[in-house]
Amino acid sequence: MFRIIFVVTFSLFAVVRIYYRSQTIGRESEKEESLRDPQTIFLSIVILSYFAAMFSYILLPDWIFWAHLDLHVVIRWSGVVLAALGIGLLVWIHHTLGRQYAAKLEIQKEHALIEAGPYKKVRHPMYTVFILFSLAVALIAANLLILIFAILIAIPFHWISRKEERMLIDQFGEEYQSYMKRSGRFLPPFRRKD
Ligand code: SAH
Repeated sequence: MFRIIFVVTFSLFAVVRIYYRSQTIGRESEKEESLRDPQTIFLSIVILSYFAAMFSYILLPDWIFWAHLDLHVVIRWSGVVLAALGIGLLVWIHHTLGRQYAAKLEIQKEHALIEAGPYKKVRHPMYTVFILFSLAVALIAANLLILIFAILIAIPFHWISRKEERMLIDQFGEEYQSYMKRSGRFLPPFRRKD
């Protein structure tokens, strides 16, 4: 049964991503950061391996059964809740970021700085959701290999967000710097920063 839930949640997440990704097709940006750095290459390799592990879980479960974790059913269900939460948050985030969204690090023509909704207290809510969602599906699958890849995915997002922030400071200067003081990178700041 968890395999079916896994396929459903993963497909829903993919549909949301593909929909918003398709909105960016054919658009020309004003500035673009190169993504041929070691961080992005590392992220791509981890994501590809993660997908390979997931497809093996769905299509060839015997291949990956050695990494099965004996997780309590409550933990697996909490993965389902987290994944559903992640999908809801992803829609909200994409909706708020609107045309500023890009699969690469880019500045669009007439790029607006977004500081509302999910961006009010968190600068990279989309990356937070990616990390949350990959951990959630690892819990649903109860698989060590998928869990390890989910943890590995979190590392390059740390580097990429720093690079993204440098680009946004370049573009918005003081305005972004003061936004940074009011917000946290992946989670809301624990203490008020002002
Ligand atoms: N890192 C963000 C956005 C990911 S999409 C998140 O995790 O939610 C990547 C694009 O979003 C980049 O090309 C960048 O130009 C844009 N971006 C990131 N933060 C932004 C903000 N606060 N306002 C407007 N655009 C932003």
